[in-house]
Amino acid sequence: MELWLLQDEDAHVQMRFRVLQVLHRERSAYQEIAVMDLGSMGRTLVLDDAIQVTERDAFVYHEMLVHVPLCAHPRPRRVLVVGGGDLGAVAEIVRHDEVERIDLVEIDARVVDLSRTYLPWAEAAARDPRLTIHYGDGFVFLQAEGPRYDVIVVDAPDPVGPGVVLFEAPFYEAVRRRLDEGGVMVTQSGSVWFQAELVTKVRRGLVEQFGRAWVYWAGVPSYSIGPWTFTGVSLGPDLSRPDPARAARLATRYYSPEVHRAAFELPPFLRERLEG
Ligand code: SAM
Repeated sequence: MELWLLQDEDAHVQMRFRVLQVLHRERSAYQEIAVMDLGSMGRTLVLDDAIQVTERDAFVYHEMLVHVPLCAHPRPRRVLVVGGGDLGAVAEIVRHDEVERIDLVEIDARVVDLSRTYLPWAEAAARDPRLTIHYGDGFVFLQAEGPRYDVIVVDAPDPVGPGVVLFEAPFYEAVRRRLDEGGVMVTQSGSVWFQAELVTKVRRGLVEQFGRAWVYWAGVPSYSIGPWTFTGVSLGPDLSRPDPARAARLATRYYSPEVHRAAFELPPFLRERLEG
């Protein structure tokens, strides 16, 4: 019998992915975790039936989530990842030689364990000596006393279950307190076509806290039909302007200094929706 993984876009639109094999499935303390072989999409991490990362298009998402803020910041030395237990964001951060310390705060240790077992980039990333993994809620972590960061990368799931707090005003306030002078933060902010309210809500929440927010986009086919958004804020640098020398040095497959700048050019319908 054929097995399909169904992903609702809205009440009328659904994507489906053929499951060749379920490599692992378990219920952790926080969520239902599965690792599947989706054939042409490759190995895929699924949390509560929602695709988190596939081998095929993870590079688009992680390169744009990570290299945009790290190349916009003139000297990123301390970086925090909130969520991101699949270690795809960390695998991109470790390419930046100037980064001295990476903290990752993930609520579910089992996501990290299973990613290290099944996802090809995760083990090497986990062994990077600059990385410390903290298990707990990202909001609680940021509210506590601790170091300030040059870059905070919020690799959150959809705003459901433990991920809800990562899209709320008190979280953004905590982010601001833990950003160093000139620091930048980027969060994933949902699908242009199918999470329009979320994109607008994230931008508005960040504008209220920081005065300005930048929205940029990339196509990540396993997440949604059409473009996916990221929203960022800055206490100094212009997020849309990469350091050309550092950006050009990275051996990336999607990200480039040109793609960085172009990703911030939004079509009128989206700009109007965001600013209207
Ligand atoms: N890129 C993915 C997406 O857009 O679907 C998200 C990837 S990453 C796997 C999301 C991680 O955030 C999950 O491993 C989940 O356990 C973790 N998470 C959810 N809520 C969290 C919280 N409040 N604090 C820290 N980690 C959290």
